[in-house]
Amino acid sequence: MSNLPFEPEFEQAYKELASTLENSTLFQKKPEYRKALQVVSVPERVIQFRVVWEDDKGQVQINRGYRVQFNSALGPYKGGLRFHPSVNLSILKFLGFEQIFKNALTGLNMGGGKGGSDFDPKGKSDNEIRRFCVSFMSELCKHIGADTDVPAGDIGVTGREVGFMFGQYKKIRNQWEGVLTGKGGSWGGSLIRPEATGYGVVYYTEHMIKHASGGKESFAGKRVAISGSGNVAQYAALKVIELGGSVVSLSDSQGALVLKGEEGSFTPEEIDTIAAIKVERKQISELATQAAFASKFKYIPGARPWTNIAGRIDVALPSATQNEVSGDEAKALIAAGCKFIAEGSNMGSTQEAIDIFEAHRDANPGAAAIWYAPGKAANAGGVAVSGLEMAQNSARVNWTREEVDSRLKNIMEDCFNNGLATAKEYVTPAEGVLPSLVAGSNIAGFTKVAEAMKDHGDWW
Ligand code: NDP
Repeated sequence: MSNLPFEPEFEQAYKELASTLENSTLFQKKPEYRKALQVVSVPERVIQFRVVWEDDKGQVQINRGYRVQFNSALGPYKGGLRFHPSVNLSILKFLGFEQIFKNALTGLNMGGGKGGSDFDPKGKSDNEIRRFCVSFMSELCKHIGADTDVPAGDIGVTGREVGFMFGQYKKIRNQWEGVLTGKGGSWGGSLIRPEATGYGVVYYTEHMIKHASGGKESFAGKRVAISGSGNVAQYAALKVIELGGSVVSLSDSQGALVLKGEEGSFTPEEIDTIAAIKVERKQISELATQAAFASKFKYIPGARPWTNIAGRIDVALPSATQNEVSGDEAKALIAAGCKFIAEGSNMGSTQEAIDIFEAHRDANPGAAAIWYAPGKAANAGGVAVSGLEMAQNSARVNWTREEVDSRLKNIMEDCFNNGLATAKEYVTPAEGVLPSLVAGSNIAGFTKVAEAMKDHGDWW
């Protein structure tokens, strides 16, 4: 990769996928897939553009806009838009690359893409956010469409931003179509889409728990550490509580909020309070000083939750951002008794952390063992319900909550079983070791896309 641009996050995501393919029997059985890997690693198209908008003082502001249209073998490009000051092409390429295989794992017809801007919505007024979204979509609308590329939300992009962008698309193109997902309920959005990623992570993890315990255990009684306090973290936490588990931590970009003692859980009401301050783009540090929170929780500025939790951890659900579990934190989670880790965030774990988790897949009860699920499988529920939103828009119908939730559950079960079965087929596990969900999910997603690309004449 010596002549290529310096793209650390993309290279990390590429190496993670490539190493699991290399370390399986896939290339022995199908050596021609090496060529497919080379082809699939280059985006079909990258669009970069200038976004000029006016702030409340009448000053001109300039940001960078991007859309990486990575792969359209299985359907229109599909993947979120991220508005965060850290956004650059390396981050969007890593996210777009992972999205290709994640979307394949949902079983729905969606290609992979990702986009966004280095715009920081924090501290901006509603009017500034609207003006930015209008300007961003004025350019992006030339490159997307219901059958071409269907963006959604990601970090910093909620239903409000999707609304502003949808309105601008409709004005310029004079077309009402399902060009964005995560839309409002009364104008084409799907029920359960806001909840889908968080719920989906929990449904997926429940299958891990059931499989590893021979059907004896569930979330009931489990102590669950969660990072983040945005869309994914909030709904994952609510679902854990609904299923009888305890949520022992949440966090944001400024610090972690953890239970003071070894008993108890965040309550749904406390999560609602956090959700309300996040709508206003405030920090959880503001709550930490309020009496009701201060008596029950400890706030640790600048920290992630993993090494700051009192007592046992059974399950960890990283749900904030990439590389939020380091090698040392992986070891600390295992030492705290954590048996399951499933990523709500994309590439939540560093490669060092993944290597440590993968080396501890011991299936013996009582062993210092952990079972790891990568984001591209565990958090596929969000894009899966986006796919269901596209289907409802095309058919001009609205499914009930129960209908969408039941489809989401089925997709997460299939996603888990597919990764498990593929791992058994291509990776020979040692005696007493649980199958590698990262290898299985990578191989299952990759082979599906590679076969479609071959049929299209993209490689031969
Ligand atoms: P939100 O913007 O709703 O929430 C993000 C959360 O992560 C916030 O608590 C935020 O803190 C925190 N955070 C953001 N950046 C950092 C950072 N650099 N360091 C520490 N904490 C950080 O985003 P989502 O919940 O939608 O997304 C969370 C993760 O899940 C991302 O990795 C995303 O790609 C992934 N994901 C999201 C899907 C979706 O449907 N939304 C689908 C699949 C994956 P603060 O409030 O202080 O900014």
